[in-house]
Amino acid sequence: MPSSDGKETIRSVEHQPIYVTPEEQEKERQAIEEIKGLSQRPQSYFIVTYGCQMNAHDSEKLAGLLNAMGMTEAEDRLKADFVLFNTCCVRENAERRALGNVNWLKELRKDKPDLLIGVCGCMVQQPLMAERILKQYRFIDLAFGTHNLHRLPEMLLSLLLNRKRVVEIDRQENLIAEGLPVKRLHSWHAFITIMYGCDNFCSYCVVPYVRGRERSRRMEDILREAQELRQTGVQEIMLLGQNVNSYGNGNENGESFPKLLRELDKLDIPRIRFMTSHPKDLSDELIEVMATGKHICNHLHLPVQSGNDEILRLMNRRYTRESYLRKVEKLRQAIPDIGLTTDLIVGFPGETEAQFEDSLSLVREVGFDSAFTFIYSPREGTQAAKMEGRIPEEESSRRIGLLIQEVEAATARANESMVGKTEQVLVESLSKRDNTKVSGKGTRSVTVTLEGTEQDIGKIIPVKITSAATNTLRGERTER
Ligand code: SAH
Ligand code: SF4
Repeated sequence: MPSSDGKETIRSVEHQPIYVTPEEQEKERQAIEEIKGLSQRPQSYFIVTYGCQMNAHDSEKLAGLLNAMGMTEAEDRLKADFVLFNTCCVRENAERRALGNVNWLKELRKDKPDLLIGVCGCMVQQPLMAERILKQYRFIDLAFGTHNLHRLPEMLLSLLLNRKRVVEIDRQENLIAEGLPVKRLHSWHAFITIMYGCDNFCSYCVVPYVRGRERSRRMEDILREAQELRQTGVQEIMLLGQNVNSYGNGNENGESFPKLLRELDKLDIPRIRFMTSHPKDLSDELIEVMATGKHICNHLHLPVQSGNDEILRLMNRRYTRESYLRKVEKLRQAIPDIGLTTDLIVGFPGETEAQFEDSLSLVREVGFDSAFTFIYSPREGTQAAKMEGRIPEEESSRRIGLLIQEVEAATARANESMVGKTEQVLVESLSKRDNTKVSGKGTRSVTVTLEGTEQDIGKIIPVKITSAATNTLRGERTER
């Protein structure tokens, strides 16, 4: 966390996790029971989630805790007694949207005086945010940071009993809370967090400041969770971490990501996915496990951020264009039909036209299945926010427009190359436009649309790809 003189004070790498103790867990359980017994308690909740899959999974844990307190999920925020915003701050617009929506909710309280409003997540964990919430957002009843999620029952109980706002933003960064109840969004898909935090300090990124130091869960806890999920018939697990490739650093017994994947593969869950992989830590051993594992999907999200060495150096990414391309080549040698996706940032401070064009040419060279593209957003406390050479907004917008065109062309080529092939599609939803159609993901993570009904959701169906549209493939059921 930056100190008041603006210098970064946490740089040391401390991986050793601190587990929430059984006594602390017991206190939360008691708070859950007490809330259940209160006559004046909220009956329903609605969680608004911003940001990444890590946040989506945190919301599943928050929902699990609220359900345990006897509340039910409301259809929408207008009908809920308790609305909780789980926020993101990775880019400024995510933050602006969250604050705008929280402000809008304030109006609702005029008709509904008992409405409780809470905010949590990364935005709240930022330096000075607690002070801002206390002064500027006086109508917020409950605010807590990323390290306090497991304390929701006690915080809510205190709010309900004392009718005084609760703001809890801990600096206890190395915490791991096991055994929280989870209300999963789907029965056929499950997120499993394998590690928390990040130590990479990419110069543009706020995540290490708001998610704390990198720490990994014990392998036995992860395997137990996966085992339980398998018994419920889950079709796909998605392992989550800011940099899953460094899973196990600091744990005992030589736990590592390839080792974890090998063990998970033995459980026979049909599909295993993971994100995110930092290119600098993508090892030969991991490539081998991906190539030989029976259930590990042939997809890798490998954020490159830029195609230019000088920008990569300024971003503190610790790889070069060349070494990234070598890893891509190795991956394709070992897994010829692998689908690669990535993240790219345009308009990093000082990025010249030529440096930007290196990102365009890299997209062309690699041929990603798809990419998330972002305009650089300065984040307070990060190294890049202090760098000179801000790129004007119109210029960044022009660059991102060109980059999106390049990505779309790569997506079109990748999609075209899949026509005629058979994909195993895990059906996720009914099509919004046509209810005789369903869509889902092949193992490469590309969306496939086919004829089907609600009954197909959660099933894996072999599909022959018949044609390619801009962002999806179309196909027909086949025997195998
Ligand atoms: N841990 C993951 C992702 C973290 S955030 C990883 O390392 O890949 C997701 C993406 O948001 C990043 O990959 C990056 O492309 C983008 N991002 C992060 N900080 C940003 C910023 N300040 N401005 C613009 N994009 C940013
Ligand atoms: Fe942010 Fe870099 Fe860590 Fe990803 S690896 S969370 S981009 S600091």
